Amino acid sequence: MPYEVSIHRCDSYDDLKVSQAVEASLVPLGGLESVIKATDRVLIKLNLLSAKPPEAAVTTHPAIVRATIKLVQELGATPVVGDSPGGGSTRASYKKLLEKTGIRQVVEDTGCELVRFDEATLEVASDKAKTFKKLTLAKAVTEADVIIGLPKLKTHSLTYYTGAVKLLYGYIPGMFKTEFHLHTARDINLFADLLLDLHETCPPALTIMDAIVGMEGDGPSNGNPRKIGLVLASKSCTALDYVAVTIAGFDPMSVPTVKLAHERGVGPARLEDIQLFGEVVEPLIMGDFEKTSTTSLSRAPPFLVNSLKRFIAAKPVVNASKCIRCGECFKDCPPKAITFAKAAGPTIDYGKCIRCYCCQELCPEGAITVSTPVVRRLLKR
Ligand code: SF4
Ligand code: SF4
Repeated sequence: MPYEVSIHRCDSYDDLKVSQAVEASLVPLGGLESVIKATDRVLIKLNLLSAKPPEAAVTTHPAIVRATIKLVQELGATPVVGDSPGGGSTRASYKKLLEKTGIRQVVEDTGCELVRFDEATLEVASDKAKTFKKLTLAKAVTEADVIIGLPKLKTHSLTYYTGAVKLLYGYIPGMFKTEFHLHTARDINLFADLLLDLHETCPPALTIMDAIVGMEGDGPSNGNPRKIGLVLASKSCTALDYVAVTIAGFDPMSVPTVKLAHERGVGPARLEDIQLFGEVVEPLIMGDFEKTSTTSLSRAPPFLVNSLKRFIAAKPVVNASKCIRCGECFKDCPPKAITFAKAAGPTIDYGKCIRCYCCQELCPEGAITVSTPVVRRLLKR
């Protein structure tokens, strides 16, 4: 069986418990030594979407990062941690984000090297990519001998779920993400294709998922933390995602990255295609895991979704009472559908809006929600 996924229980972010769970999850996969050598520079790719505290469940928890760094260091290799947050980063905003997410303390305690993906880029060509054969990536990604991904199990308004494959969108530095959102706006499958091309271009050798507390509802940044109590590990991002979405109660084939990975021949079609270690999946499946407001569209034919997107896709709505008029949503809207005035706050032009939900993802106050159009609410009755 080509796919292997290891599942271990971990009921808290206590450093010792997390360290034991991470280590135990790697044993059946051959241990960390099966993917890295002492001479390797190992990029540990985090999910550092925005400056939120660990308990908000938006970013990879520092305890998972600490445990992984420790294991890499024990093998004599050189760990490097980093990411490109949504909307990109400056030196100052990255510093603030590291502080808030608890990663600065981990870096300081472990002496691990830190990189900011937005600092330097490199154009990379890949024969393995299907659609996006040339990509501008963070230099830190291209310089690594080995990549370890540390995603968090969360919902996502655009892709319904974010995990191992979606984590790789961060390979693209913030300022280039806008361009890709615009280019893929007409088709969710095209965006999933981009994610899979990133995966084929620079696949992580190993992924360890933080599913101790995940996120349900309108993720990836404004949903609700949900205790799941698991650490998942795999050498295959696509198999790990298959297992994670199954546990979260999705039909795996309704998640574009999972479906297209299988169609490309790089992902499993059934749970039976995966060799599982540790916990049994079936008792872990959460029937009440809350999906995003956008997920009900996942079963509609893509041509229908794309052509009627403006009428049937959930739209971003600003909650004026929560808005602090910071302007973050305005700066990062790919088609410039948001106008902003300090006194009035942001205004969205729905005629221009491509429903990428970047504004909802990046709003630091949770002041942007997604609202299901009346026509879909009526159809649900
Ligand atoms: S990002 Fe959020 S808080 Fe800031 S202006 Fe936009 S809606 Fe308001
Ligand atoms: S308004 Fe929000 S959802 Fe619409 S295009 Fe801009 S960032 Fe995307």
